[in-house]
Amino acid sequence: MAILQTTRAASDPSFVGQSPIRHSLEVLLKATIVLLPGDGIGPEVIASAHRVLVQVAQSHGHTLEFQEHKIGGIAIDLYGDPLPEETIAACKRSDAVLLGAVGGPKWDDPNAKTRPEAGLLKIRKELGLFANLRPIVTFPELLDSSPLKRSIIEGTDILFFRELTGGLYFGPSGCETLPDGQQRAYSTAVYTTHEVERIVRMAADAARTRRKKLTMVDKANVLEASRLWRRVSAKIMHEQYPDLEYEVVLVDSMAMHLLSRPTSFDVVVTSNMFGDILTDEASMLPGSLGMLPSASIGSSGPGLYEPIHGSAPDIAGKGIANPLATILAAAMLCRHSLGLHAEAEQIERAVRKVLALGHRTADLVPRGQPSIGTEAMTQKVIENL
Ligand code: NAD
Repeated sequence: MAILQTTRAASDPSFVGQSPIRHSLEVLLKATIVLLPGDGIGPEVIASAHRVLVQVAQSHGHTLEFQEHKIGGIAIDLYGDPLPEETIAACKRSDAVLLGAVGGPKWDDPNAKTRPEAGLLKIRKELGLFANLRPIVTFPELLDSSPLKRSIIEGTDILFFRELTGGLYFGPSGCETLPDGQQRAYSTAVYTTHEVERIVRMAADAARTRRKKLTMVDKANVLEASRLWRRVSAKIMHEQYPDLEYEVVLVDSMAMHLLSRPTSFDVVVTSNMFGDILTDEASMLPGSLGMLPSASIGSSGPGLYEPIHGSAPDIAGKGIANPLATILAAAMLCRHSLGLHAEAEQIERAVRKVLALGHRTADLVPRGQPSIGTEAMTQKVIENL
């Protein structure tokens, strides 16, 4: 577990430029991080984020111990299991887990006994991760990579909280054959008060540290489960968060608002399936999959941090993958699992600076334009920390 070793008065380098002689109490930390590179470009982008974390830890005097374990296709090849027991045990003992990506054509056979993605679902369950956090931030330098107009997306900074363990994906489901030969299939959206309460509270706490606005998205005009979400969240917000601006939006309207006025949202909380769809829609706003991190966290224990992109088999091994999403996931790990806020901001600022200096990987430029590879981009981030 993360141990606070000691405290010392230190000049916090992350404030350089804002207040050159600002002194803060810097906490020295000892923590264990499990790296799960996975498949495809996973090992390449994890190596980049690892280097950035080592550099940040060294510069602040923290002791981070890294352990690498297998997940996904490579674990199937080696152990016949996408999530070996040894990986689960190491993750449970750690303070945080940083994952690359899993999957690829080699393991795509629909008749296979097991698939790489099963490892992902199982690790979330084993670690009790019920909230998926997905920040959607547009970078000024990349506004023209977005399919939407600059005037609409400029300044977008949304933090989604998607419930991960309940709802339609986990409720009773089945398929039966009717007497007339037709098939009848059903999936049921089930939520309990507790499941709604814990994620609404988590999202509201986050809103308090941001622009103090929470949007709850549901379909309460049709679904009973959504009506529970609406009652429970209204009570919590009224009683415990009267200082926050609170609004409810129907999911169909939200799908439109995300494309017409994304800058009007701060923190958004919603159920499993609505979150799945809305976060993928929102991921188009910044313009590249290679820039977006995500975190999955529970009420205690290690969180899981990863880029939202997959294993990109088409570019694996070529040294051209964009490592920034995974580096930004490492920043989220510092903030949410280690409590290292200044360090998280330091990493995020370095990424913004590198973009402002004009450095781009191939996915961020029109085809044929000059770009740099994974290694060079990582080096630029480290130089700008
Ligand atoms: P993908 O995200 O891997 O790739 C989509 C496109 O984006 C590809 O052209 C790829 O080259 C590009 N891309 C993705 N990440 C990039 C990066 N960091 N830098 C530059 N370009 C990048 O999605 P896909 O092609 O649909 O899936 C490939 C495999 O990944 C499949 O096996 C899928 O199941 C798996 N997958 C895994 C996860 C995960 O591990 N969380 C998520 C999504 C997909």
